[in-house]
Amino acid sequence: MILIVDDAPENIISLKKVLEKNDFEVDTASSGEEALKKILKKSYVLIILDVQMPGMDGFEVAEAISGYSRAKETAIIFLSAASANLNLITKGYSSGGLDYISKPVDINILLLKVKTFYRIYEQSRALNEMQTALREEIEFRKEAERKKDEFISIASHELKTPMTSIKGYIQLLERSLDKNDIETVRTRLHKVQNQVEKLHLLIADLLDISKIESGKLKFNKKYFEFEGLVSHIAEIMQQSNPQVKIIIKNKVEAQIYADEMRIEQVIINFMTNAIKYAPDSEEIHISSELKGNNLCFSVKDFGIGMSPEHQQKIFDKFYRIEETSARFQGLGIGLYICQEIIERHNGIIGVNSVLGEGSEFHFTIPLNPEKEEIKIENNEF
Ligand code: ADP
Repeated sequence: MILIVDDAPENIISLKKVLEKNDFEVDTASSGEEALKKILKKSYVLIILDVQMPGMDGFEVAEAISGYSRAKETAIIFLSAASANLNLITKGYSSGGLDYISKPVDINILLLKVKTFYRIYEQSRALNEMQTALREEIEFRKEAERKKDEFISIASHELKTPMTSIKGYIQLLERSLDKNDIETVRTRLHKVQNQVEKLHLLIADLLDISKIESGKLKFNKKYFEFEGLVSHIAEIMQQSNPQVKIIIKNKVEAQIYADEMRIEQVIINFMTNAIKYAPDSEEIHISSELKGNNLCFSVKDFGIGMSPEHQQKIFDKFYRIEETSARFQGLGIGLYICQEIIERHNGIIGVNSVLGEGSEFHFTIPLNPEKEEIKIENNEF
């Protein structure tokens, strides 16, 4: 937008008319003081400034706005009878540009100058945008690199921990075997088995990540009874986590068309997190519900919870909440994989959480694809 500043209304009217005819947006001020007020509130590409005005003259206005950050990019064209005085103000004003036109104004020259300033303004804006985008891109690279390094270091540590335990238990196993202590052999074998299972899950997650990256995560969808799967997982998780009570709050009787193993993986991930991030709580609530053609499933814990800013990000690859990452082991990839699985079932995944009170992770997927297709068709008509 252009601001015309002149104390003579007839000058303002004629200039405004010409500029508007040439598709420029125009604002006006009839004194230096009024111009300053407007420049404080609004950004202008160009100010056409009469030098000789009663009260604050054009030079004083230019000096005054030289300090405004809002006017950093603004160019000024002075309308002046005396060109010599122009040097006086250039020292105070470093801006998008300065020029002058002597009165009486040659309208063609003024238009030419206005168009040139506008072009320069557009070009510098485009350059600035490009520079910002480039800077962001570089930062985003840098950030991806940092996350990758961090991930490799955490992943190596996570893989090493069960490996070290396995090595230790095998040594102890040998001793128990020498002593023919079959009961201890059995207990230690069980512990080795647990650690092997941990390793297996970690490696499976790492493989899933690379499959997602290369678009090779495949799904084998069939009909299966959803609640049967939930009860089975709850029973197994209850056995290995006797310290917490896993309560099935609500059940559904429904056949669902999905990849059973992948849905199992999501449910286990939700429940494992619910146990891990609620170390002092006694209960976990599981619930399934039917809403139209959709199945909604949720796992609720009463643990550490999280603030809203993290709730958006925890489904991102490698994202772990920094404040608690030292306290809880993990790779920050489980929820990312869950999101991919649910989205590939045309579903949605999410979390409701209150910091310090707990979290409820949920997903919603269509019971079967045929009905969903009918729904989409109906919506279209
Ligand atoms: P991991 O638990 O291995 O770090 P996830 O992808 O499963 O990876 O979870 C990502 C992050 O989300 C976790 O690091 C943790 O900060 C947060 N988070 C996940 N589940 C919960 C939960 N139930 N309560 C609080 N924070 C959670």
